[in-house]
Amino acid sequence: VPNLAPILPPVAATAQVIRQLSGEEIFLVHISPLIASKDEILRFEGKSRIDLAITFVELRELFTEANIHETDLEYSDFDEPLGYKGSFFPMANGIIQAAEIKEHLHATPVVTVEGEGMIDAIKEFEENIGTIKCHFNLFYKEFLMGRGTSMGGKRILRRSQLISYVNKRFKILDLEQWKRSMEQFKDLNLTRNFTPDDQSLPIPSESRLKKILKDLDQLESADVGCGACGYASCTDFATAIAQGLAIPEMCNTYASRNRQDHIQSLKISNEKLAQAQDALKKSERQAQKEKEAAREASEIVRRMLHKLPSMVVICDQNLKILQTNNSFIEMLGEEAQEINEVVPGLAGADLKTLLPYNFYNLFTYVLSHNESIRNRDLQHEGKLLNVSVFVIEKDKIVGAVIRDMSAPEVQKEEVVKRLNEAIDKNLNLVQQIGFIMGEGAAETERMLNSIIESYELRKDLKDR
Ligand code: SF4
Repeated sequence: VPNLAPILPPVAATAQVIRQLSGEEIFLVHISPLIASKDEILRFEGKSRIDLAITFVELRELFTEANIHETDLEYSDFDEPLGYKGSFFPMANGIIQAAEIKEHLHATPVVTVEGEGMIDAIKEFEENIGTIKCHFNLFYKEFLMGRGTSMGGKRILRRSQLISYVNKRFKILDLEQWKRSMEQFKDLNLTRNFTPDDQSLPIPSESRLKKILKDLDQLESADVGCGACGYASCTDFATAIAQGLAIPEMCNTYASRNRQDHIQSLKISNEKLAQAQDALKKSERQAQKEKEAAREASEIVRRMLHKLPSMVVICDQNLKILQTNNSFIEMLGEEAQEINEVVPGLAGADLKTLLPYNFYNLFTYVLSHNESIRNRDLQHEGKLLNVSVFVIEKDKIVGAVIRDMSAPEVQKEEVVKRLNEAIDKNLNLVQQIGFIMGEGAAETERMLNSIIESYELRKDLKDR
């Protein structure tokens, strides 16, 4: 640190010049080829203060945003005081030229080093200054190629363009005026101080280094190395990893081994993926078959329903029709048959609008109690109907089979069935006659009445 030249950089010196000309409060923006300038300006205070630093790239972006194009503008030179050889500053040895320090090898008191070699140069300076006996002018990166300039710039081309620009300026520069300016600002205080701020990272423990070298599979060759990672040995590289300055993938052998592992694991994943795809296709085909079979079965059921002489209706918990058959639709009358032509099977129709209360209430009861009703006789539109309502899906779907008791085939079958029931019941009643005679007789009477009623209805219909 004590060997650093205690001089402000040109940007801070310029800030002092501008403040002398325009006052303390002026807001200064530094347009720089270096991203690092954003941090550097924080070190300048007082008259050297710079309020903001932006890069050339950011300046171009601002121009684009504000729709400012060079071709639409008139050329205007910099304000006084103009620079002279300071224009060479973007090049590594530009500052030497600007200070008019000799650069002949046999006479120069300054060695200029630029790029990554500057780190080694500092070490050499420390170790051999007694022999070197020179000042060092160090640049990690020439301003010409700074990270704040447009990407992809070519170094030699930029150097040539800079030199030709400076030559042009030399031709029009008023040297006398420049000297007067130098005189005007010669009393500015351009000195600065540096204080040590140790940024070196802690040295990792031996066990930590061993673990990293083991992970890299470089335990055997720790003190040598191929150098492909940019470090002199595998141990140096492991140290950089431990300090957070490098990542294992920067090691060629580690990266290529990982690549192989990765390729292998990709192969396995691909195979698994292919197997999963096959299984998926199979299950898709199976699902398609099942869907087809279900569709066919549903179609068969639908056709069977329509062939049944009994009336069938299936509805949901809101008494909306899900499925019905022709016999049921015919029983509902002409209006329902017309609707059926537009909406096949009356799907979605409300049972409450099609049937009287005492009829659809049977469905409501079965839905709310989940308990089927069998063989309930019901008068509807002058017909005696035998209704059975049953649960298909608890709380959700119920179905009903309704038989017209006046239909000859139903009547004959029903007469036989009910007479059998009556005989059976009477036999039972005879056995229990001692104590339930009255009740048995009443039951017999009810059944016989229902048969008579059924016959009478049939007779009425025939007469009509
Ligand atoms: S690339 Fe890998 S093997 Fe080569 S020196 Fe660096 S750490 Fe060692």
